[in-house]
Amino acid sequence: MKSALITGITGQDGSFLAEWLLGKGYRVFGLARRESWYRPNNASHLTGQVKLLFGDMSEGADIASAIQEARPDEIYNLASQSRPGESWARAPETLLVDGLGAIRLFEAVRHHYPACRVYQASSSDMFGQVSIVIQNEQTPFNPVNPYAAAKVYAHQMAKIYRESYGLYIASGILFNHESERRPLHFLTQKVAYGAACAALGISDSPDLNEMGRPIVQHGKLVLGNLEISRDWGYAGDFVRAMWLMLQQERPDDFVIGTGQPHTLQDLCETAYRCVDRDWRDNVVSDPALMRPLESGQTLADTSKARMQLGWEPTVSFDEMVKKMVAAQLLRLKNVAHHTNPKG
Ligand code: NAP
Repeated sequence: MKSALITGITGQDGSFLAEWLLGKGYRVFGLARRESWYRPNNASHLTGQVKLLFGDMSEGADIASAIQEARPDEIYNLASQSRPGESWARAPETLLVDGLGAIRLFEAVRHHYPACRVYQASSSDMFGQVSIVIQNEQTPFNPVNPYAAAKVYAHQMAKIYRESYGLYIASGILFNHESERRPLHFLTQKVAYGAACAALGISDSPDLNEMGRPIVQHGKLVLGNLEISRDWGYAGDFVRAMWLMLQQERPDDFVIGTGQPHTLQDLCETAYRCVDRDWRDNVVSDPALMRPLESGQTLADTSKARMQLGWEPTVSFDEMVKKMVAAQLLRLKNVAHHTNPKG
């Protein structure tokens, strides 16, 4: 039986990947911070099926002991301070976890378990302000936030460790991928939530945004620049690509995305259409919410992944948005039920 260690198992991708690997018959270990595991998280339903190892990616000793205990055939390094917007306020921590955490993991593999295969979670955010309309493995990086800069550092070090020490480290340059498991502070989930609020007639939402105000206030969802364009795919599809990368004979870098661009306005239109509402009645754009520096349009050229991995996305943009809105509707109805059980 093969075994795999997933760092960041409580996150969106970690939980989908754990399900995928369990389905393939793997013994799955997850590295998680103790306090995260004991509150509801994306992998809570896998309790008893995965073996938990507690640790923090900012502690080299935690990483080394997790690897020594799991003795995994494959490691998926997904743990991250993964919010580009928040990385401005938490720049040192972002570098510590996303940058140095990865290096510590490569070092631990080199010293304790060099035969193990490693997947490094790189990001399309590394392309930053791009002048090239469609991005592939050769596109130069131009990061514009601390998160992306930390990811570039880890990505380059993965290549250096691969070439200098002969380690098997494959990096997936993944474009945005979403799901019903995305935390509410992510943009796509806010839109799904806004649509669910509109459907339920909630004009002041129970959940708050980063500024401590209701996400939907006075019947409006307030967003930043509606013109930004992203290549948004479904997380369940993307974890399959991670696994495929580690099944190749040689480690390599792969761009993973859908190749379909959508603006934030498209996303709003689609989400509110799911509940028969017009987004224009429910969404406003506030320039104060725009980032100091915005990444350019992201659009993946996935020819290499399609050719070499045989990978294709299976869930369309519309299907993904529908799943997310349905999950938020269910969640809000449950909140209402618990607040007012007779209602
Ligand atoms: P996510 O939901 O935010 O999950 C991140 C995970 O990292 C969580 O389990 C989190 O645990 C854990 N973590 C954070 N700090 C940690 C620390 N100091 N020690 C140990 N664990 C820590 O992110 P995701 O969407 O699943 O993404 C997975 C990976 O892919 C990340 O590296 C992300 O940067 C990268 N990526 C994501 C996308 C995307 O669109 N989703 C695109 C490109 C790349 P807690 O529960 O304790 O917070």
